[in-house]
Amino acid sequence: PERPNSQGFDLAHAPTLEAIDAARDPLRKAQWKAGPLLATDVPEGTVQEVSNPADPSDVVGTVQHATADDVTAAFDAARMWDASPAERGRVLNAAADALEANLAPLFVLLAREAGKTLPDCVAELREAVDFMRYYAAHAPSKEPAGTYVCISPWNFPLAIFTGQISAALAAGNAVLAKPAEQTPLIAHLTVTLMHEAGVPAHVLQLLPGGGEVGAALTSDARVGGVAFTGSTATALKIRNSLAQHAAPGTPLIAETGGLNAMIVDSTALPEQAVTAIIESAFQSAGQRCSALRCLYIQEDIAPAFTAMLTGAMDALAMGMPWDLSTDVGPVIDETARKGIADHIATARAEGRLLHALPTPQTGTYIAPTLISVDGIEDMTREIFGPVLHIATFKSGRMHRIIQDINATGYGLTFGLHTRIDDRVQFVSDRILAGNVYVNRNQIGAIVGSQPFGGIGLSGTGPKAGGPDYLLRFSRPGAAEAVD
Ligand code: GLU
Repeated sequence: PERPNSQGFDLAHAPTLEAIDAARDPLRKAQWKAGPLLATDVPEGTVQEVSNPADPSDVVGTVQHATADDVTAAFDAARMWDASPAERGRVLNAAADALEANLAPLFVLLAREAGKTLPDCVAELREAVDFMRYYAAHAPSKEPAGTYVCISPWNFPLAIFTGQISAALAAGNAVLAKPAEQTPLIAHLTVTLMHEAGVPAHVLQLLPGGGEVGAALTSDARVGGVAFTGSTATALKIRNSLAQHAAPGTPLIAETGGLNAMIVDSTALPEQAVTAIIESAFQSAGQRCSALRCLYIQEDIAPAFTAMLTGAMDALAMGMPWDLSTDVGPVIDETARKGIADHIATARAEGRLLHALPTPQTGTYIAPTLISVDGIEDMTREIFGPVLHIATFKSGRMHRIIQDINATGYGLTFGLHTRIDDRVQFVSDRILAGNVYVNRNQIGAIVGSQPFGGIGLSGTGPKAGGPDYLLRFSRPGAAEAVD
């Protein structure tokens, strides 16, 4: 990228860790509050508790959901950002600095509200500031689309939340942001910091809530565009709503699900492939859209390779997100836990459970699990957790496997481990996926270097953190502003 990305925070650096630790206890006991942040006064409403997925007895704070009246008031008050691209960029850079300066409360909230491990907290804050600075550096002078609705997911409650809104703001839009229902506290703190950094209150408004708030936002005729990350089903509902209520050209940028595969052939370096698989399938408790779901291993190496893989799984530690020794934290909530546990129970009943670690008794944990399948065609839905499906293939079947992977209709990430150069070319020419990774893991796309986004059922494009993304936040065909 033209400007260097954040260097992150070195958890092996004692003073950094001590600073985080010093802030930890008071912040761990603090009670946080979230509610609508509108340009107008917000009437009092009912509040709900937000609890810690790793420990349901830990109430992290409370949230007041936005009402239908709040949504109308937010549209009424919304104003596009009347500042030059350079000034918008300056304020967004100041907001990125403010996020970095507030590392301790953000880490505590990422761990307590979203169940993120410390390495995931570090990665998430880096990505958030990278998005902000990248879009700040490319703030366009074209006319903005209007009032942009940004609907973000709980799995990246800081990075994707910030990525969507900072792109919309860099392009000069008014933004109405609805964070995931599970993670309003991080969103509230982030928007507060952005307001303090100079983003005007009528330009950026926050509307916490569930699907009903999202539905109200996307069915107002004044919506100028929608950026959404979440399920394919919800993206289709939003498209439907825009078709009924909004102007015909209203853009929808959707990043949705995936059934992501990896192929490991018999020439692959086993240690490299096992490390990549462990990271891709189990980091962030498998709760990334990019995560590996279906692994294909060439038959002749399968027994030895699977033994190495299960050995590496046994070394994964589950525990409280904040403990440095924890590799795998909880899944987001009880609904998620139950859906994944039901899938594992079905596999067990069918005799397809290959390996599973013991599960902690409290909190919404799912232990890393390995399930055998004949191929990706056996997988009818995305299992959003630390569950890896594994199939073997015979020599000569590469073409067929690629067809099966493409036939799912999803196309987000794909991984390949091989030492045959021609195979890299053959597979990457044919596989339908937004991000293809060779001889490495398939998560953690880097802003500015690896624009991220899928095709088909996995999303609309353009890719986040790439040069085309901001175009969708400007009015198409509008003339460049002339100084
Ligand atoms: N950009 C993330 C990655 O590359 C995934 C984003 C998502 O889960 O939505 O791992």
